[in-house]
Amino acid sequence: MERRTFIKSATLTGLGITAFGLLGAKENPFYANLKVNEQRILTRINELAKFGRDNNNRGYRVAYTQGDIDGRTWFMQLMKNAGLHPTIDSAGNIIGKRNGKNPSLKPIAFGSHIDMVPDGGNYDGTLGSISALEVIEVLNEQKVLTAHPLEVLIFANEEGGLIGSRAMVGQLTPEGLQQLSQSGVMMAAGIKAIGGNPDDIQGAIRKKGDLHAFLELHIEQGGILENENLPIGVVEGIVGILDCEVTIEGFANHAGTTPMKLRKDALLAASKLVIAVNEVINGVPGSQVGTVGKIQAQPGAYNVVPGNVTLGLEIRDLSWDKIEQLLSKIEQRAAQIANETKTKIMFIREASFSKPALTAPYLQKKINNCAATLGLKTKVMPSGAGHDSQQIAAIAPVGMIFVPSVGGVSHSPNEFTKASDMTNGANVLLQTILSIDRE
Ligand SMILES: [Zn+2]
Repeated sequence: MERRTFIKSATLTGLGITAFGLLGAKENPFYANLKVNEQRILTRINELAKFGRDNNNRGYRVAYTQGDIDGRTWFMQLMKNAGLHPTIDSAGNIIGKRNGKNPSLKPIAFGSHIDMVPDGGNYDGTLGSISALEVIEVLNEQKVLTAHPLEVLIFANEEGGLIGSRAMVGQLTPEGLQQLSQSGVMMAAGIKAIGGNPDDIQGAIRKKGDLHAFLELHIEQGGILENENLPIGVVEGIVGILDCEVTIEGFANHAGTTPMKLRKDALLAASKLVIAVNEVINGVPGSQVGTVGKIQAQPGAYNVVPGNVTLGLEIRDLSWDKIEQLLSKIEQRAAQIANETKTKIMFIREASFSKPALTAPYLQKKINNCAATLGLKTKVMPSGAGHDSQQIAAIAPVGMIFVPSVGGVSHSPNEFTKASDMTNGANVLLQTILSIDRE
């Protein structure tokens, strides 16, 4: 939500009304007063952080390693204590279930992941997982029985390519199972190591309509919320990613004897193209991003005009059409640059693209309403990073809640989110689940 819109809705909040209508909380103060336990969340974040440390005491709970297995065992014990009867599906996802009043209703699911990148932080995925369990703890303590069954989903190997959630929506291929995971073992062997069954990977599939909704609380992993001093992000979608390898062919020649006007300098063309990418991306309104993150010049010597350059270009946005339009503008600029520099520029799309996944507008509204009821300002924003939610969007309406990352740092031991921000996010998660249940 833009700031100006917020001020309007904040005023309305005082009357128990938001821009989206009557607040659920005013209907039932008992539910509105349910709150998560900040100390329990903090203690558990710190407990989980102890599993999977490497020899230098850095976070190394990479999927399928002993640290991952230990962390999962610890987490499943907590789920058992909370009465969730956790099971492991064929892909290694942990699934905990809590009955609802009405067994004919489809479950409301929520959760995240507890594996991490090498040398990662203690909040990415962990916050959403521990908060999902916290919701169950609060409902147990307050003896609340929801109408819908509830499911806590802890996805396996999120950081290695959304492997668990990909399998859950039937998109993990036999080739995918044969890929090497970050832990050094094949995906199939890794899945087996955490209690899954790669020979029956189809067994993990959930069909469209099997879940009433899926919610994921996550740290932002960027600096927008902190920068704008906002406690809650309402994610409108997870951006699509298009990667292109760009090859520039010039002519390698003697840097001393080749006059400037006779050169076909591939690196000069590449430099102009890097600037052109930046201009094209900045040239239209929106939150799209474009990056040239890789450059290799051949032959790579002081005294040779570069004959060949390879660039890595990446474009991300919530709209695939927009990504395509931006790429075609970049290609037009590249054609001009090739002409000016007497070089050839070729674009090859990488096979590993991912299409944008949008969250459900009705869940965005619910998250926004629940945050407003809690007195928390929100911002509707895209997620620039990938998440399990983007896979689950194929089979269920999904909603995502972001909380600020200090300094916008993530995938690093310096990753940090303040306790008050974690609590805010977990309370929004709790209230959103209750709101979905009452609809
Ligand atoms: Zn994550």
